[in-house]
Amino acid sequence: MENLQIRKDARAKEAFAEAKQYIPGGVNSPVRAFKSVGLTPIYVDHAAGSRIYDIDGNSFIDYICSWGPLILGHAHPEVIEAIQKTAAKGTSFGAPTELETMMAKLVCERMPSVDIVRMVNSGTEATMSAIRLARGYTGRNKVLKFEGSYHGHADSLLIKAGSGVATLGLPDSPGVPEGVAANTITVPYNDLESVTVAFERYGEEIACVIVEPIAGNMGVVPPLPGFLQGLRDLTNQYGSLLIFDEVMTGFRVHINSAQGLFDITPDLTCMGKVIGGGLPVGAYGGKREIMEQMAPAGPIYQAGTLSGNPLAMIAGYTTLKLLQPEVYQQLERQAVKLQLGFEKNAQELGVPVTINRVGSMVCPFFTDQHVINYDVAKSSNLDHFRRYFENLVNLGVSIAPSQFEGMFVSAAHTDADIDATIEANYYALKNL
Ligand code: PMP
Repeated sequence: MENLQIRKDARAKEAFAEAKQYIPGGVNSPVRAFKSVGLTPIYVDHAAGSRIYDIDGNSFIDYICSWGPLILGHAHPEVIEAIQKTAAKGTSFGAPTELETMMAKLVCERMPSVDIVRMVNSGTEATMSAIRLARGYTGRNKVLKFEGSYHGHADSLLIKAGSGVATLGLPDSPGVPEGVAANTITVPYNDLESVTVAFERYGEEIACVIVEPIAGNMGVVPPLPGFLQGLRDLTNQYGSLLIFDEVMTGFRVHINSAQGLFDITPDLTCMGKVIGGGLPVGAYGGKREIMEQMAPAGPIYQAGTLSGNPLAMIAGYTTLKLLQPEVYQQLERQAVKLQLGFEKNAQELGVPVTINRVGSMVCPFFTDQHVINYDVAKSSNLDHFRRYFENLVNLGVSIAPSQFEGMFVSAAHTDADIDATIEANYYALKNL
């Protein structure tokens, strides 16, 4: 396999050069530019199941899965058919449809803490709206978040953020007013002591704690035992709201999401990715009494021209319906196999690698330390990551071009895909 596929990228180079003339940095979302790994982006032509096919004629086993949404794999036939049928009836009405209630009902059934839910168009809109609701509901201004967590690009959440912000090394984006930044408190993930100190100092001013119940934007970092319960206890004690940002983990790690997996009940939950089945969606929901503060039931405003869009609703609904317990068992099996294969390879080759995994979220960190927060994640050997990434791409495996993002296993990844990926991982590590 060592020299099996060397990626061809002549057409991608041309396409990228042209895109840069008309789109800032050539892309509509920064990490897609492959800037931190110094390569030309893969220009996708089409995708099916576990594979993407690019305009240069390469194909890749894909573990980006559109950054999480495609838990069933690319272009799942039932999802595509549902979208096509729905599209034939019209693409947007700006008036209620029964489809929206069907979707809301299913989300409420599956997400344990959610009594009632509002649909928006992205994860960013979900977190931004949930923060506004928490502030409006509590009459407080401060938000506590964790270093290396990413909750979308709303001003108050772009402080010491993960994901592309971490990849590009831009911890505090220009354009975020000082007054906004002053209301965001950041502490290390998994550090309950720091949260306690923050509450002792600012407790009466903290509207909410927003947390990824499994951090997925500094690589994959699971919560330490007691961390989430500790956040629940402290927010209860101080009358702050606990917001779970399950944009990535929602319906990904468990049929009832991370809150079901860990049995913790947040006040509000943000969703996105999987619930859109590959179309643009976000949602936020939670306790009825809190959510009914939103207009038109209550005074806090939030709206959207395309919110509850029928194509997004049917794609999400069809995806969730297909996500039955046996699918999660299969995802777990494949992801465990991948983890064990990667660990064996690293051990055999003597490369310091630590694999973090929860369900189908998997992340190989180039460090031998236990990765429990952003500081440890950042101590990974980024030069190793860069070469590892380039080798994998050349061997026909697509992962996120950043040490601070995980891999997503989908239900479309076959045994043969997993075996081929483990083999590619071996040669990618061997040729660091
Ligand atoms: N929250 C989390 C946990 C995320 O992972 C993301 C996106 N990766 C967002 C919020 C923002 O979602 P979107 O990109 O749809 O705005």
